[in-house]
Amino acid sequence: MKDVIMFTTKTCSHCKTAKKFLSQNKIHFIEKDINVDEQARSELISRNVRGVPAFLIGDDLVVGFDPAKIQQLVDHRLVECEECHTKLRVPINKGSLKVTCPKCKHAFEVTPR
Ligand SMILES: [Zn+2]
Repeated sequence: MKDVIMFTTKTCSHCKTAKKFLSQNKIHFIEKDINVDEQARSELISRNVRGVPAFLIGDDLVVGFDPAKIQQLVDHRLVECEECHTKLRVPINKGSLKVTCPKCKHAFEVTPR
């Protein structure tokens, strides 16, 4: 799983939505407030980004809150066990996968969206 760096400002409402999304999907991220973090601001400017939220995922930059793209770039998404609704993290971009729930041992197939 790749590190996610999120560039934010305190006044940005999309940043709040994005943070909630990342937490709900258990995606670990490091938040950098560009109004506080001079280095983070320089980094964005050097990449020609003028808005927040922006996300640095590995070497890829996502500007604006784009959940589908973020999930794609972190290579993982959460799926729910059909039986006990435990949330599992599975890699994407690997086609169909057989997964076994660690809690109830229910085996099921995850198909790509
Ligand atoms: Zn289960």
